[in-house]
Amino acid sequence: MCVSLLVAYLTIFHVIFVFFIWTYWKSVFTPPQQPDKKFQMSYADKERYENEDRPEGQQQILVEMARKLPVYTRTGNGAIRFCDRCQLIKPDRCHHCSVCAMCVLKMDHHCPWVNNCIGFSNYKFFLLFLAYSLLYCMYIAATVFKYFIKFWTAELTNSRSKFHILFLLFVAIMFFVSLLFLFGYHCWLVSQNRSTLEAFSAPVFQNGPDKNGFNLGLVKNLQQVFGEERRLWLLPVVSSQGDGHFFPMRTWSEARNPLLANEEQWEEEGPEEDTHGCHLGSSLIVEMET
Ligand SMILES: [Zn+2]
Ligand SMILES: [Zn+2]
Repeated sequence: MCVSLLVAYLTIFHVIFVFFIWTYWKSVFTPPQQPDKKFQMSYADKERYENEDRPEGQQQILVEMARKLPVYTRTGNGAIRFCDRCQLIKPDRCHHCSVCAMCVLKMDHHCPWVNNCIGFSNYKFFLLFLAYSLLYCMYIAATVFKYFIKFWTAELTNSRSKFHILFLLFVAIMFFVSLLFLFGYHCWLVSQNRSTLEAFSAPVFQNGPDKNGFNLGLVKNLQQVFGEERRLWLLPVVSSQGDGHFFPMRTWSEARNPLLANEEQWEEEGPEEDTHGCHLGSSLIVEMET
């Protein structure tokens, strides 16, 4: 092999390798993000909640708390999504991870390969890690393939390198194929603005479950994960939109404030409710639209 080709092979290899390690590092060591303090139950609310025996009464306390928060999704039966273990109201798309023992913002899944929870804080890094791993495997397979052919045509004289070539090619192809399925699946999820958990169980809004509840169209969905600046899309740096607590909804313009709907739902239990929190919710919609 001529020297210039060797230098080109090695240079490209190391550029891909650096991105592969960098994105892996970021996926592993970016801690999952927990909900903000304002989603936590205050000491007074906690005491009221624990002293309340009736489930309806407890739900009423949660409804009052949720009114001050930008939460629009509910449980399957229309109740406020509350985490008993973390004692907090779950923001939209947030789920409790039993491995990490905490609530994780926009939780996607707990990944054993990176030993970390994949969620709002590191989803972009995880996607890039899959993409660079694919590229890495593809590059290795492509550069080794020439020698693999030589192996069969008996042009390869050095017997020690035979094993390396076989091993490299098969491992690279094996990982390439399995990563391709995972990466393809996640590309589809991003295009639909859905997390893995939401793909299995659709988020429930005031009008019932809607698997496309957060789907804003391909470009906006991509921007939500990768940010608006395209030059940052392929770099493992923070560029996702929002703070992970609130996500714009598809039915957004037509959506009535779900907290009002919620109030109607619970009115039988507690008719004397102040609506201050509802105004907070509506002003938030106006703020996000402008
Ligand atoms: Zn939790
Ligand atoms: Zn986890």
